[in-house]
Amino acid sequence: VIDCECGEMLQAANDEDLAKVVAAHFERDHPGESLSEDGLAELIARRAYDATDS
Ligand SMILES: [Zn+2]
Repeated sequence: VIDCECGEMLQAANDEDLAKVVAAHFERDHPGESLSEDGLAELIARRAYDATDS
């Protein structure tokens, strides 16, 4: 799970899917921001967390 800086919560079953979800979200909602594959991986490494407690 990643909370995007825009406030949107993005979640997926694993980091691989999460990367796709985040990339799709950026294309749709942040078209002005280009996110490289490295930037995407870094974003996930830094901000992703497991939403196990609910
Ligand atoms: Zn966003």
